[in-house]
Amino acid sequence: MIRIGMIGGSGFDDPDFLTDVRIVKKGTPFGALSHDLVIGRVGDIEVVLMLRHGRGHRIRPSAVNYRANIWAMKDLGVTHIIATTACGSLREEIFPGHLVFPDQFIDFTRTRKSTFHEGDQVVHIGMGDPFCARLRDLLIQTAARLDIAHHPTGTVVTIEGPRFSTRAESRMFRILGADVINMSTVPEVVLAREAGICYAAAAMSTDYDAWHHSEEPVTWDVIAATMAKNVDHVKKIFFETVRAIDYEECSCRTAVDAAIV
Ligand SMILES: [Zn+2]
Repeated sequence: MIRIGMIGGSGFDDPDFLTDVRIVKKGTPFGALSHDLVIGRVGDIEVVLMLRHGRGHRIRPSAVNYRANIWAMKDLGVTHIIATTACGSLREEIFPGHLVFPDQFIDFTRTRKSTFHEGDQVVHIGMGDPFCARLRDLLIQTAARLDIAHHPTGTVVTIEGPRFSTRAESRMFRILGADVINMSTVPEVVLAREAGICYAAAAMSTDYDAWHHSEEPVTWDVIAATMAKNVDHVKKIFFETVRAIDYEECSCRTAVDAAIV
């Protein structure tokens, strides 16, 4: 059975696109969730909504319990996750306000638990294509149909934060091939793959990162203002994509089976 999860970044506190909303408390073997889960419906499709940073954006990116959040989704039978994330743009052509549907990541996190398998079991999961290609395709098709400015591919670099990058770091990430930068995609996407859940992200560009000399150094106020304008776009895409998801079988489901040593 198909069940959809949405992980909302900043700006999704009010799940007004869901009906029949109920709140579900859930414990996990990995500790507490970011908040009680919100389960509701888009049409006749049940959707599990999680706000990554808790209500009112209280949890900093390094402190998000990614393992608990993904485990809870899995336990509720979620098969597909669409995640939203604010990001900085590392490319001139990715204007603030544009969406990017990343197909690759670069991991610059340092302190996060990025596997469910810490015991005796050694799991080397393949990560050549970290995002679910079919789910990405649906997001891209939806954005195109709704005529929302977007980039169908991109490499996201996830940094530890909570500070933003120096100009030197920002320039380095450009040289490394990153297109956008955030603090949350890794390890969320990795854990989803371990859990056998299809995962794709809609990254909202909110600002040019520090590399861009026309920019004042990025501040939270700038990000929040751009995001407020663009959350509606992401909600529209989410609303349409949820209804377009028509496949259950996917290589994402079984990736972990081949990875256990
Ligand atoms: Zn998949």
